[in-house]
Amino acid sequence: MKNYDVIVIGGGPAGIFAAGFAAMQGAKVLLLEKNRRCGAKLLITGKGRCNVTNSEEDPRLFSEVFGRNGKALLTALYAFGVADTINFFAQRGLALKIERGGRVFPEKGKASDVQKVLDHFVKESGVKLLTSCTVRKLHRQGARISSVETSSGDFSAAQFIIATGGLSYSETGCTGDGYRWAEQTDHSLILPEPALIPVLLDENWTRELCDFNLKNVHITVQQEGKKIAERFGEAFFTRGGIGGPIILDMSAEIRDALKQGDVKLVLDLKPAVVVELFDKRLQRELATYSNKSFRNSLGNLLPKAMISLFIRLSGIDADKKCHSITKTERIRLLSLFKELELTVSRVEGFKKAIITSGGVSLKDIDMRTMRSKKIANLYFAGEMVDLDGPTGGYNLQVCWSTGYLAGMSAAAR
Ligand SMILES: Cc1cc2nc3c(=O)[nH]c(=O)nc-3n(C[C@H](O)[C@H](O)[C@H](O)COP(=O)(O)OP(=O)(O)OC[C@H]3O[C@@H](n4cnc5c(N)ncnc54)[C@H](O)[C@@H]3O)c2cc1C
Repeated sequence: MKNYDVIVIGGGPAGIFAAGFAAMQGAKVLLLEKNRRCGAKLLITGKGRCNVTNSEEDPRLFSEVFGRNGKALLTALYAFGVADTINFFAQRGLALKIERGGRVFPEKGKASDVQKVLDHFVKESGVKLLTSCTVRKLHRQGARISSVETSSGDFSAAQFIIATGGLSYSETGCTGDGYRWAEQTDHSLILPEPALIPVLLDENWTRELCDFNLKNVHITVQQEGKKIAERFGEAFFTRGGIGGPIILDMSAEIRDALKQGDVKLVLDLKPAVVVELFDKRLQRELATYSNKSFRNSLGNLLPKAMISLFIRLSGIDADKKCHSITKTERIRLLSLFKELELTVSRVEGFKKAIITSGGVSLKDIDMRTMRSKKIANLYFAGEMVDLDGPTGGYNLQVCWSTGYLAGMSAAAR
């Protein structure tokens, strides 16, 4: 059986960083990946553009978006933060650019360029990489892991790092193996659940506006008239519902609220203008087109794609002359602009989840090193750890930071 200093399981961003940085410290490192190539999930990140990180460089502010667990990420962020990520790629010839919301992307907008840099990093750091190699089992001797059983034979090492990712988009190789091994070795697991998920709606007209971008809108999540969450920003309708950054970022709250009962979304298409002012605007618009039919009056207020839908939803006869639209009809029209109600039927599952929330409990990991508190020579990194952030590059930064810290710590032992 071949013996290594460090074995890393999983060739995603976290595993590659862990392996590469451990090897750069002089450790003899083996990286095991079940796919033919590393970084399969990276290729579909950011709609193929890969939102590598977020430009928020202050570790405290960065960690705040992770909620209660955020503080635990601080050591990893101080060890390898946003600026380090940007430098890492820049030094390897991949220029990055910052977009709205601090989202950092490769300048040429190609996730495959990120994957190429990582492939090269594995080579330059001297990691021994075995692809098409599925790890089946971890062998334990007392409070230590002694070896791994794989589809290509058994391998032993002094230290082991698990970075097998979550459960979403399983076609990229993430089938929850690491969660099983963590549980088998006495770690507590916070229930892994799909997170950053599109939302499905009862309204079937959304398919007419499929992928139509809603920029600068405000959406409120409500249950029994009570506000649960709200966001301002970008969303889009899908064939069966609604998606986009602000929906994804509220999806965990929507998912949890659905367990209690019905959930509604209230869409404000004109959040910059209060209701009273927008009503005045509506009245002015209807006065301008006074002798025209209603169907020809909304061009200044709505994009073309939405006009026929609004006419239908308003219940106002499309051929009615604008001057004969009643106040009740106008108020109904007003509410479509300012508080369009949408009924949530359900949220998508792991198949369409951007990330998995939950995972190996932080209680069982020394977050100063990423080392397990249960198994002396075992480390965790990446999405399988109980840390989940919003959209905007936060989740990949968790992988760079925790991967780096796990690799450096394992190599130091
Ligand atoms: C559609 C989509 C878009 C996304 N966009 C972004 C984005 O723009 N920005 C962002 O920050 N985050 C994004 N994410 C989230 C981000 O991709 C993940 O958080 C990140 O890839 C997790 O990295 P990881 O290394 O922990 O795990 P993964 O990338 O999932 O890698 C785990 C690896 O382990 C391997 N593996 C699993 N089990 C075994 C086994 N038994 N033996 C051997 N190998 C195994 C898998 O094949 C896989 O290659 C996106 C996710 C999705 C699905």
